[in-house]
Amino acid sequence: MIYLDANATTPIAPAVLEAMLPFLRDQHANPSASYAAARQVRRAVDVARGAVAGLLAAEPGEIIFTSGATESMHTTHHSVRALWPEKRRLITTAVEHAAGLECAARWKKSGGEVCLIGVDSQGRVDLAALESALLDEEVALVSVLWANNETGVIQPLHDVVELAHAHGALVHADAVQMPGKAKIHVREVPVDFLSLSGHKFHAPKGVGILYVSQRVRFEPLLTGGGQEGGRRSGTENVAGIVALGKAAELAQKPMDGTLRDAFERDLRARWSEAVIHGQGAMRLPNTSSVHLPGVDAAGMLIMLDQRGLACSAGSACHAGAVHPSHVLEAMGFDAEHAAETLRISFSRMNSPEEATTGAQIVVECAERLRSLRGSACVV
Ligand code: PLP
Repeated sequence: MIYLDANATTPIAPAVLEAMLPFLRDQHANPSASYAAARQVRRAVDVARGAVAGLLAAEPGEIIFTSGATESMHTTHHSVRALWPEKRRLITTAVEHAAGLECAARWKKSGGEVCLIGVDSQGRVDLAALESALLDEEVALVSVLWANNETGVIQPLHDVVELAHAHGALVHADAVQMPGKAKIHVREVPVDFLSLSGHKFHAPKGVGILYVSQRVRFEPLLTGGGQEGGRRSGTENVAGIVALGKAAELAQKPMDGTLRDAFERDLRARWSEAVIHGQGAMRLPNTSSVHLPGVDAAGMLIMLDQRGLACSAGSACHAGAVHPSHVLEAMGFDAEHAAETLRISFSRMNSPEEATTGAQIVVECAERLRSLRGSACVV
């Protein structure tokens, strides 16, 4: 299989697997216990915390281990709602991941107000609209998807933070797609909260972090045994945390855009009508959102799967119904355009051959599909 769907999840890196195995095999002690074996496990958790803090330029005390970004985001919203109930407003964007949109829906359900900020045709957030939305004094939180999972477009988060802080609002960044691809520096871009998921950068699924700046107060979502300094109860996923620490070390060396650029160059050379979304904006070095005019992406996914290539489409299929991407819609594209869009996303574990062979397979399948258009049976 040629796996070009890294924005969905990444394979576990060999060094990460090696680091976590002892904690599945032998080192099973509960890190909260008092004996020597437990202290050893606790030390491993602390080392991982230090590595994650290093990746973000944060303090270890600002890192809370969670089950992943979805939990981290809900925790952020819960904390802000609980501590600043008089501030009723959340500002977020029209291009958030489903986890962000669901957090916003809950905010509204709990009696709050939600303001969605739009983006331009390149997927960049409208800073003027953000500034005017911030004039409302009741804004508690601005929550922004830093790098878009569908298009790879990177938002000008420094400007977002500056504007939000100037108006007394806190900022949460969904930075899930950033590690190992773009720099995260919480002193240079001083967000208040930031969410990550390990499985997007070669750690296993089900472990992530919430960064909470030491400047802000915090109210936990999960209470119980008082783990994570009382900020996230529940016995730690030690093997996952150790893996996340190792993955954070590996992510210190960011990917460059070699694979993505080779893929896009080869694709455009063979299929000149292909359009890459967000080319006029800052983009992650690993993501290509490609519009192939006249080529049904759902059919492409089936054909590509038969050729052993795994990637995603610009539409999502839920319960049998195809929904156009809300991200492409917010960028001004219609449902038909979204239904002709593929997302290719690389990780550091892909090879240059996979990029060029991937482009060749995509073009061959697109040509075949287009030639079959209108015939009764396409695959
Ligand atoms: N945010 C973004 C941008 C994502 O891509 C994802 C995962 O697809 C999430 C949040 C949610 O992450 P998880 O499912 O690991 O909680």
